[in-house]
Amino acid sequence: MKPTHIEHIGIAVKSLNDSIPYYEEVLGLKCYSVEEVVDQKVKTAFFMVGQTKIELLEATSEESPIAKFIEKKGEGIHHLAFAMEDVAEALTHAEGKGIQLIDKQPRPGAEGLMIGFMHPKSTGGVLTEFCAKKK
Ligand code: ZN
Repeated sequence: MKPTHIEHIGIAVKSLNDSIPYYEEVLGLKCYSVEEVVDQKVKTAFFMVGQTKIELLEATSEESPIAKFIEKKGEGIHHLAFAMEDVAEALTHAEGKGIQLIDKQPRPGAEGLMIGFMHPKSTGGVLTEFCAKKK
């Protein structure tokens, strides 16, 4: 039960349009996908760095967790996502170790992945996500 790699780093931004040029023009990355995840009230933009993605997250509503995050902490790193073989197994394993889960069950995320979050209270302050390709 260990991650194969860092699947992505989630970064909360106020505006995708204002943030994308930094990643493209300064870092030389290419935004290959912009996707709205209605369920999570966010719009995402993706860049590939090796086998890891940078996922920019913009709130689509004031109710969005991203809007609340930015209000409290400002723009910046929001979460860390580990690529796992199986999200359900990873969540069960973590819960067995006393970790507080946000998602008891895997749910669909961006990019066609199954995802599940652990609570930052249990993970040293880092909102942590497991993701896996759908089986
Ligand atoms: Zn994520």
